[in-house]
Amino acid sequence: MNFLMKIYLLSLLYHDLLIFQITWLQVKSQRSKVHRIRENYWLSSGGLIAHADSPSEGGKSIFELNQKVPQKKKVVVLGTGWAGTSFLKDLDISSYDVQVVSPRNYFAFTPLLPSVTCGTVEARSIVEPVRNIIKKRNGEINFWEAECLKIDQANRKIFCRSIIDENLAGNNEFSLQYDYLIIAIGAQVNTFNTSGVLEHCHFLKEVEDAQKIRRTVIDCFEKAVLPGLTEEERKTNLHFVVVGGGPTGIEFAAELHDFVHEDLVNIYPSVKDLVNITVIQSGDHILNSFDERISSFAERKFQRDGIQVLTGHRVVSVSDRLINMKNKTTGNDDSMPHGMVVWSTGVGTHPVVKDFMEQVGQGNRRVLATDEWLRVKGCENVYALGDCATVDQKKIMEDISEIFKAADKDNSGTLTIEEFQDVIEDVIIRYPQVELYLNSKHLFDVADLLRDTDGNDRLEVDIEGFKLALSHVDTQMKSLPATAQVAAQQGAYLSRCFNIWDKCKDNPEGPRKFRSGGRHEFRPFRYRHLGQFAPLGGEQAAAELPGDWVSMGHSTQWLWYSVYASKQVSWRTRFLVIGDWSRRYIFGRDSSRI
Ligand code: FAD
Ligand code: MG
Repeated sequence: MNFLMKIYLLSLLYHDLLIFQITWLQVKSQRSKVHRIRENYWLSSGGLIAHADSPSEGGKSIFELNQKVPQKKKVVVLGTGWAGTSFLKDLDISSYDVQVVSPRNYFAFTPLLPSVTCGTVEARSIVEPVRNIIKKRNGEINFWEAECLKIDQANRKIFCRSIIDENLAGNNEFSLQYDYLIIAIGAQVNTFNTSGVLEHCHFLKEVEDAQKIRRTVIDCFEKAVLPGLTEEERKTNLHFVVVGGGPTGIEFAAELHDFVHEDLVNIYPSVKDLVNITVIQSGDHILNSFDERISSFAERKFQRDGIQVLTGHRVVSVSDRLINMKNKTTGNDDSMPHGMVVWSTGVGTHPVVKDFMEQVGQGNRRVLATDEWLRVKGCENVYALGDCATVDQKKIMEDISEIFKAADKDNSGTLTIEEFQDVIEDVIIRYPQVELYLNSKHLFDVADLLRDTDGNDRLEVDIEGFKLALSHVDTQMKSLPATAQVAAQQGAYLSRCFNIWDKCKDNPEGPRKFRSGGRHEFRPFRYRHLGQFAPLGGEQAAAELPGDWVSMGHSTQWLWYSVYASKQVSWRTRFLVIGDWSRRYIFGRDSSRI
């Protein structure tokens, strides 16, 4: 281990040295090109920041030149989840004064939360302290363990409250001023106002939730083996119900099945035949966001494993002993006793986001709407990413006349293929649905869009023909899923924009603005789907990979292990997670109730 650590530290050192060297070389080459006075300044987001030790024109120091040193722009980041951490990881903090507010002083690797519920991995193995993450950035990022209670967008201020014990000395409330606000506070559980859910169900959203589930599973077994219980009571205590047939609910059911059949039946042999796991799903199939082959593979596997799947049932209320449902096809009411219910049915909006949505005229929406640059619609300098936001993709048909006008360079009232080709690159970047449409129609050349209804090439089209040609393109617009993948990509995208902002002000890299002229500073955010996994228990998993590739079974489980090991945010958690997997393999899971 020591040896490996040394190699790792050396490689980091080498990496840092290399970066230092490259930066130095870049600085040197810049110096030969730019005007002498500019040698002594770095362009920052706020303007010019001086190098205190550099000589300037006439041998005077920059202070003598009476240049005003502008303050760094204040960036406040809310949340240390996938989106927030990914934003912080690559942000160039030399240009910004960064403050982070989150009630959790750690980042949690949520895809492994279901494994924490049964002790396959330990809670501490999947979290990375935020202070470790910001320490790597030379401590120039301030972190405040608190929750944001209100955003006052008119005054660019947020109001926060510390979640630390109120008995400690000092005030718990404070406010922060921002120039740019990054909202990345994720989502909260959604009960759909179902009666009794908040009081009697478990959720699987936070690390604490997973730890609570782990204790409750053990409680159910310990209670079931107490003397003096009827068989019916033992059975009720050992009936585990999962509401929601999405990836989280299914993964939890599979983990629980493995825990019960690989470990608990050996420890509690007297009740081993009384355990039942039921998944209730309101749709017709479980895992319905996956390829059909995966959802039927999962259904068949669960059937073989004895996990009951009730599709087409909607839970109407939950009490301490019963879960009440309605059969969506027959309309009949049904109920069953339970020992424990895990509620895993999608996500809802945080109150602070709801309040902010009212302020910016988005009160009627479910999540914050942003444009393709992740800027919250209806206000300035506020960005939202991850589960608390959705990108409102612009329809091409809204701008179709402007695109036509911009492309019709000779003002002939018609577009030739050449004229169309001149704008197509910008069109594809600005409206990604065009590329999706071309792919869905197996068209390789955009010019094919301009063919007439019989499929013949046309030399030119008028505005009506142009509208007709692109009329179905917007059907390809899809909203992005609430996943870690989207959140992490958005964080990385936004930090890149912040890092290259100054450069892009002079040399915009974005597509043409068809309405107002000029170019956008940045390219819009573009999501790259890298596939998704569904671990199904018994060392089997299913995966949907890019290019419509579907893989299922034991080998996919190994792929899952390697992907999730490689995706860990630090070497520390990578070692811990792999260690936990090995420990489980050798000694089984720990059933202590701690
Ligand atoms: P989060 O990661 O939830 O982070 C939100 C952050 O905001 C947290 O740090 C929180 O403490 C903080 N916060 C909350 N309230 C406030 C406040 N008032 N003020 C300041 N900060 C606040 N996605 C995948 O792609 N693959 C998977 O396999 C996968 N598995 C999952 C399994 C489980 C059990 C769960 C729950 C989710 C899973 N997801 C998965 C979804 C993924 O976790 C989310 O999409 C992702 O976490 C969203 O990232 P985020 O940054 O928007 O929010
Ligand atoms: Mg023309």
